[in-house]
Amino acid sequence: MAWDFETDPEYQEQLDWAREFVDAEVRPVDLLVETPYDVADPVRQALFPPLQERVRERGLWATHLGTELGGPGHGQLKLALLNEVLGRSKCAPSIFGCQAPDTGNGEILAHFGTEEQKQRYLGPLLRNDVVSSFSMTEPHGGSDPTAFKTRAEWDGQAWVLNGEKWFISNARFAAFQIVMAVTDPEAPPRERMSAFLLPSDTPGIRFLRHVELADEAPGAGTEGYISYEDVRLPADSMLGERGGGFEVAQYRLGGGRIHHAMRSVGLMDYVIETMLERAASRTTKGEALGRKQLVQEMIADSWAQLEQFRLLVLRTAWRIDKHQEYRAVRGDISAVKAVMPKVVLDIVSRAIQLHGSLGLTRDMPFFDMLVTGFTMGLADGPTEIHKLVVARELLKEIEPIDDLFPTEHIPRRQIEAERLYGQVVEQLADANRS
Ligand SMILES: Cc1cc2nc3c(=O)[nH]c(=O)nc-3n(C[C@H](O)[C@H](O)[C@H](O)COP(=O)(O)OP(=O)(O)OC[C@H]3O[C@@H](n4cnc5c(N)ncnc54)[C@H](O)[C@@H]3O)c2cc1C
Repeated sequence: MAWDFETDPEYQEQLDWAREFVDAEVRPVDLLVETPYDVADPVRQALFPPLQERVRERGLWATHLGTELGGPGHGQLKLALLNEVLGRSKCAPSIFGCQAPDTGNGEILAHFGTEEQKQRYLGPLLRNDVVSSFSMTEPHGGSDPTAFKTRAEWDGQAWVLNGEKWFISNARFAAFQIVMAVTDPEAPPRERMSAFLLPSDTPGIRFLRHVELADEAPGAGTEGYISYEDVRLPADSMLGERGGGFEVAQYRLGGGRIHHAMRSVGLMDYVIETMLERAASRTTKGEALGRKQLVQEMIADSWAQLEQFRLLVLRTAWRIDKHQEYRAVRGDISAVKAVMPKVVLDIVSRAIQLHGSLGLTRDMPFFDMLVTGFTMGLADGPTEIHKLVVARELLKEIEPIDDLFPTEHIPRRQIEAERLYGQVVEQLADANRS
């Protein structure tokens, strides 16, 4: 009997340490640095390394990485539990070496990179000496990757990259980008693109804008609107097969999606804590808010919604560990991704309401979290498409029946039941009559 909802005591001790460390020493850093990705920010550079060292000493640095990459190979379930702690803080994922999108980009480099690329980029990335970005979405539409136009053409000596990309997170801080570009426009739609490793100092990369998310300060936009103008890439910058860009992208997206979900569980746990404190402390009409039944409903709904989501996330993480690949659990990951924005938006909205006017101010963190909720419904693919994936994965297993009425049509089941047990029922009826 292998079902178990308890964490082994040794790892629980690690989680307890992480929780204390994050609350006492990492969350204060969130208030002092604009973004954990700006490796040129002197405040970040002064505060991060000593904290990262403490995490390394504790054996909790990049725990998802296998031993071949210098990690302990804890896998996804343990990472899920750790991410529940890290999700409480903007900087904690970087301080524990498991921040998006570097985790996924690192996985791509480890799997598809040449030895030289690994030495030059993977090592520094895994140490968080540099950060990276993933460049796929285009300004005319991100949901349909078969419509992307950015081209890489081989001119006999190099791949020449031309086109525009949109909403490329943290590209302004990145040492390299992984870029998806069309190399084979005549091939079937899903075999047209290839993935490239593009060092950020390559001539021809131009930022048209640093687009600001609604919760970012003016000038601090992290979403790159980028133009590639005759960017030259050597032959070995291609990652994976020519035309195999989708496969490379899928390699990272599975992890990216589930890791966001793990952190969202932690963030929402934190929000519920704030709701509980407020409900217990604020009074109206002579009693605590928490004694009002409609406030109790907000708390109960939030807790139950989060716990359902958490169980789905943990089960999905457990299934990834079991199958040792993301593709086998594609439907589960899409289900997690599809329900995540509603969980975040519902809980944060209730927290705002419960805190009254204060909830809407910058004195509390909730409004920015609404942006996070909507981001979860878009980044790494919109909710609608993930719902399609869930349904398709389920339908894939189903054989159509060759009958006008469904298998569960009650008149037919009645006949089958009578065929099976009719004699017994009749014997009982005869016995009752005599
Ligand atoms: C904060 C943030 C960070 C991001 N970071 C990155 C990054 O680092 N790199 C990167 O490449 N991209 C990134 N993205 C882009 C993200 O992948 C796209 O926003 C997403 O794929 C949707 O593309 P779009 O924004 O162009 O919306 P569109 O493609 O214009 O779609 C708009 C809406 O149309 C609906 N829709 C679209 N297709 C369907 C369909 N088939 N069925 C039903 N409804 C549909 C959905 O409601 C969708 O939200 C980021 C996005 C956000 C918000």
